[in-house]
Amino acid sequence: MLLFRKDLRTFDNIALLKACEVNDQLLCIYCYDNNNCEKYKPAKISKKREAFIFKSLQDLDNRLQKMGQKLLVFKTSPLEALNHLNANVPISTFIISQDPGWYEKKQVAEIKSSYKELEILQFHNNTLFDESEIPFDLINFPSSFSKFRKTLEDQEIKHPWAAPDRLPPMPDLNTDKFSLNGEPIDAELEFAGGESAGKQRLLHYFETNSASTYKETRNALDGKNYSTKFSIWLSNGCISARNIISNLKKYESLNGKNNSTYWIFFELLWREYFQWYAHHYKESLYKISGVTGIRPLSSFYAERLKKWEQGTTPYPLVNALMNQLVSTGYMSNRGRQIVASCLVNELELDWRYGASFMESHLIDYDVASNWGNWQSIAGVGSDGKKKHFDLNKQTKLFDPHRSFIKHWKGERGARQLDSVDQSDWPI
Ligand SMILES: Cc1cc2nc3c(=O)[nH]c(=O)nc-3n(C[C@H](O)[C@H](O)[C@H](O)COP(=O)(O)OP(=O)(O)OC[C@H]3O[C@@H](n4cnc5c(N)ncnc54)[C@H](O)[C@@H]3O)c2cc1C
Repeated sequence: MLLFRKDLRTFDNIALLKACEVNDQLLCIYCYDNNNCEKYKPAKISKKREAFIFKSLQDLDNRLQKMGQKLLVFKTSPLEALNHLNANVPISTFIISQDPGWYEKKQVAEIKSSYKELEILQFHNNTLFDESEIPFDLINFPSSFSKFRKTLEDQEIKHPWAAPDRLPPMPDLNTDKFSLNGEPIDAELEFAGGESAGKQRLLHYFETNSASTYKETRNALDGKNYSTKFSIWLSNGCISARNIISNLKKYESLNGKNNSTYWIFFELLWREYFQWYAHHYKESLYKISGVTGIRPLSSFYAERLKKWEQGTTPYPLVNALMNQLVSTGYMSNRGRQIVASCLVNELELDWRYGASFMESHLIDYDVASNWGNWQSIAGVGSDGKKKHFDLNKQTKLFDPHRSFIKHWKGERGARQLDSVDQSDWPI
């Protein structure tokens, strides 16, 4: 049995290839339990994120069907899905991609303890390197990104694996109940989900010359090609990091290398860093004190959090960015840094409420990159330094004509942060 999670693709999917090697018959499943976030749980993932995942599953199912298989979708935990299937056909092997998330690891541990005889095969399917290729063990994780980068920058990155032509058949089992059907979730998406759309974006981006100016444009707040947008498909596993590198190398061989093309690789190393960071720091990823063990000062101001989420703070740039996030499911890297810094510094809130809100809304939500970046801004990451972005300066630099603020209706905020003062007297 193969469980798909954040690896919703057939190309460069080592778990899928292994499934063909070790099984005569195969069950491909996905657990759509919509319930991965345990602490500071947002009520639900947003409609946009749900729609993106649904589209990605449809695309995967179409691809699997062309290979003689089909995707079975459960609205339960993986353990419950396994219990159900195992009651009908004995399952001997459970194949899965490694996930850096602590709660996702717990799901696998639960299966291990319930099925002692089951062979569990796990693969690092979503990183540039396999654990065996990184030159440090996870116990001695480098103390900074720079150290991490220097140890890995010159390491060879493997070519992506081709997709299999054919998959082992399904066992004889009535699976109609678990077919992916029903209407796609009704949410307009600027970016379509799935491997096909992800590959299209990869092709399109490298057909333009945007990669050669990436370093100069990457901090913009709005637009199609100022940054790659690869995270949207990468985070859901619709494309792989190795596939991006292989396309980047092709681009460089045709158009030449420069500092910008290198910088795309550099940013993917940041992603790589956070993936292994999450594997190393485990549940500390969600702790208020992060990986430092030092609890930052913060309080819970319900009104401030609501204003931040609804784009009604006294800070027009922050409001515009939050409106952009909620309406599109995406925000630029600079935007994420600005709104996170505002939540931590101006609003003095517990950073985990911000991380959790992004978890709910970002269609490119990735457990390691999201919680790792939030820790870094809140000063509870590996360098222990809080980051504070000056909102006026950021507005002058990145929205000098206030067109972004106008477009995303950032001026509609409150004049004051609190409508009561610290001792609860109405202002
Ligand atoms: C508070 C906060 C929360 C974030 N949450 C997420 C998240 O949930 N999912 C996610 O994928 N990224 C997250 N990021 C990182 C970054 O903002 C996005 O990866 C990036 O904006 C995605 O757009 P892009 O693909 O166009 O990036 P590009 O600028 O084109 O970068 C290329 C690739 O490099 C990687 N990358 C770039 N910047 C970072 C970074 N700071 N950290 C890790 N990887 C990076 C991404 O995989 C990205 O696709 C977060 C950053 C912050 C500050």
